[in-house]
Amino acid sequence: MPPSNALPEYDYLLAGGGAAGLSLAYHIAQEPRLAGKRVLIIEPEAKDQNDRTWSYWSDTPMVFDGIAAHEWRHIAFRSPGFEKVIDLGNYRYRMIRGLDYYQFIRRALADNPQVTFVRGAVEILEDTASGVRVQSSAGAFTAQYAFDSRPRT
Ligand SMILES: Cc1cc2nc3c(=O)[nH]c(=O)nc-3n(C[C@H](O)[C@H](O)[C@H](O)COP(=O)(O)OP(=O)(O)OC[C@H]3O[C@@H](n4cnc5c(N)ncnc54)[C@H](O)[C@@H]3O)c2cc1C
Repeated sequence: MPPSNALPEYDYLLAGGGAAGLSLAYHIAQEPRLAGKRVLIIEPEAKDQNDRTWSYWSDTPMVFDGIAAHEWRHIAFRSPGFEKVIDLGNYRYRMIRGLDYYQFIRRALADNPQVTFVRGAVEILEDTASGVRVQSSAGAFTAQYAFDSRPRT
């Protein structure tokens, strides 16, 4: 394990590469002021399954609109004696498939030297004098800051 007082290997350690971890990594990579920051993502799963979907409302362009699998411009209320279809105007309701999201971000970050993906499970995450230290099934790493999106057990 790296000594606790050594300079951290990474600026940001992301424990968990699901919705939150991948979104954070993507936004860090998009931000010019963070261009020099080194990001480590530790995620145990391959994320190669469509394990969920996300849907959202918006009336302005959003960053992941391009990968939405469906977009609705109308909503309908229907019952045996009533029917009303409402145009959503500027609003859209969009649905993103989990797999499309994982693949989109993986592709966007694939050639980015800022970002390192490690397949493994975080076991211990602890503060040190110079940041954080993680013990994972793929080895030990240090970083200045950690963002932990592991599910609560
Ligand atoms: C089957 C299912 C369907 C869902 N459908 C929807 C939906 O339709 N709409 C919606 O809004 N929400 C849905 N959710 C809720 C979903 O949890 C959130 O939308 C969103 O995925 C949460 O983002 P997150 O990054 O916090 O968690 P996740 O996306 O779950 O990411 C957490 C990541 O941490 C990883 N991890 C676990 N243990 C470790 C470890 N020890 N070390 C490192 N990484 C670890 C996991 O593998 C995972 O990739 C669904 C959840 C499930 C389980």
